[in-house]
Amino acid sequence: MVQTEVRSPPLTPLIDDRALPQLGLGVWRTPPEDTAEVVRTALTTGYRLIDTAAAYRNERGVGEGVRASGLRRDEVFVTTKLPNPDHGYDAALQSFERSLKRLGVDYVDLYLIHWPTPARGLYIDTWRALVRLQAEGRARSIGVSNFMVEHLRRIIAETGVTPAVNQVELHPGFQQGDLRAFHVSRGIVTQCWSPLGQGRLLTHPEIARIAARHGKTPAQALIRWHLDCGLMAIPKSAHAARIAENFEVFDFRLDEADMAAIARLDDPNGRIGFDPLRV
Ligand code: NAD
Repeated sequence: MVQTEVRSPPLTPLIDDRALPQLGLGVWRTPPEDTAEVVRTALTTGYRLIDTAAAYRNERGVGEGVRASGLRRDEVFVTTKLPNPDHGYDAALQSFERSLKRLGVDYVDLYLIHWPTPARGLYIDTWRALVRLQAEGRARSIGVSNFMVEHLRRIIAETGVTPAVNQVELHPGFQQGDLRAFHVSRGIVTQCWSPLGQGRLLTHPEIARIAARHGKTPAQALIRWHLDCGLMAIPKSAHAARIAENFEVFDFRLDEADMAAIARLDDPNGRIGFDPLRV
């Protein structure tokens, strides 16, 4: 019998000299009461990065799942995010304490500002709080989410500190070429949310064709596309079989023809989630 080798996700280096797994599990909309078991299952499957947020209301379950996995704390990477109402220097520091308490950990591996909320005008002060948390060692890496080029330029210019990561909506239907090029120019790593297009891309005929050619599922082809683009991805599932399926992506690669076909699916108006300028 041929055994399929399930390898660990490669680590992506960050500008702060740390590194994060290229593939992780997202837990947005995973019910709080199910989260501990979902996280434990994912970690047992081989995932090492879990992406939560204060706004998902399941940080407690994430912490429980990490502890139930039997893995050492330093073998797991936990990301959480600062919620929009808690922008501002002091409010951000206090919000971080509450997240740590809910998670039951004394540091997170990656702390992100969830949205720039530019209308409030507080993301620079908020970022200064994250810089302090990193200096204290309690947020090992710091970054942002849903920041556009104009927001990134401002925080870098005004604080001198470049976010290690920008977590944004990115999938074949919305490929964010300009933002990715800016990230590369500043050493910012792109982490992709909704890599499966919230499930909508799973039935796209081109994705199905490419997946079938490799003997893989559409979800696996989509995740492989992110990895082959050098992007990080955090697909979500709360089902053990899909959690495993989404992790079995380290035994194949897309070829040039596949990549060219997927490049043609890009739509600059293909955003599915919220527009960062309106949140
Ligand atoms: P996704 O693209 O990961 O799609 C998830 C959906 O796809 C699931 O609900 C499920 O219905 C389906 N699915 C997953 N695996 C499947 C499989 N193998 N076969 C069939 N169907 C499958 O969408 P998402 O949840 O929006 O994004 C992933 C993660 O990104 C979130 O859980 C969250 O952690 C993060 N996220 C962050 C932000 C942000 O603002 N920073 C916004 C949205 C999501």
